[in-house]
Amino acid sequence: MNKDGLIVVGGGGGFIGGHLVKQLLDEGFTNVRSVDIKPTHEWYQVHEPADNVVADLKLKDNCYRVCDGASQVYQLAADMGGMGFIENNKALCMLSVLITTHMLMAAEDCGVERFFYSSSACVYAADKQKSEDVVPLREEDAYPAMPEDGYGWEKLFTERMCRHFREDFGVQTRMARFHNVYGPFGTWDGGREKAPAAICRKVINAKATGAKSIEIWGDGLQTRSFMYIDDCIKGIRMFTEADYTEPLNLGSDELTTINNLVDMVEEIAEIKLEHTHNLTAPKGVNGRNSDNDKIKEVHGWAPSIRLRDGMERTYNWIVGEYNAQHGTDVPMTDAGISFANA
Ligand code: NAD
Repeated sequence: MNKDGLIVVGGGGGFIGGHLVKQLLDEGFTNVRSVDIKPTHEWYQVHEPADNVVADLKLKDNCYRVCDGASQVYQLAADMGGMGFIENNKALCMLSVLITTHMLMAAEDCGVERFFYSSSACVYAADKQKSEDVVPLREEDAYPAMPEDGYGWEKLFTERMCRHFREDFGVQTRMARFHNVYGPFGTWDGGREKAPAAICRKVINAKATGAKSIEIWGDGLQTRSFMYIDDCIKGIRMFTEADYTEPLNLGSDELTTINNLVDMVEEIAEIKLEHTHNLTAPKGVNGRNSDNDKIKEVHGWAPSIRLRDGMERTYNWIVGEYNAQHGTDVPMTDAGISFANA
């Protein structure tokens, strides 16, 4: 596509949006607009060559303003977080419907050529995720619908809106159902962080303070897969450029238990802690994995970065952030993969 066309990234101050803006700039796109509600000093990454705009995309006028003249829109803005956040903020999560509704309306009126929407594995029916012994989720398992309350219902509804904007109004929507994305420049404290970052932070905190134990939410037997950010960004670009229009899983199929993830981070950090389990903390469904048959069939590719490799990079990045915030000196690992802090 034309490298000088305007590309808009909604939620560009967030974790995935920040990486996507960098990718687009690295690919040579010259006209990238990154939009987020947060003031820029709170963005996880600010890429200077982009047009960085602070705006509330729940408001229709703002959506029209930022989409004016755009050829592609990546709509990633949402009020979201890990289980601790989405289980306790259902109405806030559902209000994200305003963002994508208004962005779709703007995209239609502005003649946008491609519209990418970031859906989630939280659209999948809860009764398919009751056992830790999971059957990986196939795209058709989203129906009959019984998604995660609040956040998942909003995502499923918005997927359908994207579909009908394409069928009825010709907006070329593309959708991915992300399964747990992790990596550097993401949320690692404050209550919205997800399990991989939270576990890294707790282990780093133990290294810094000499604490001997770590608290795990739930019994730790719950199973999940986690996708490293580089695979996510590659998938977003691939899905957007392709002709395939149905929602597709974008996730790793390397399954782990939360207990094993803690063991992995302890191994990376070279520390062994006593595990305590908080059985009243939010823990989400018992088991979830991505079935990647469809993505392989459609794209001949699926996320493949090993969890151990991605976790080591993530751990090192959080070490840098933690040390900067606490004035501590926790060492990075020998792999020496460090990141300039945002
Ligand atoms: P994030 O919270 O880091 O980024 C979302 C960004 O949207 C934030 O910077 C936030 O300030 C911004 N935002 C919220 N409301 C806004 C508004 N009204 N106007 C403008 N900006 C607004 O989250 P992320 O992990 O980067 O997630 C990006 C997208 O991917 C979200 O839609 C999320 O639901 C989806 N997703 C993420 C994961 C994951 O594991 N990270 C999994 C499934 C789906």
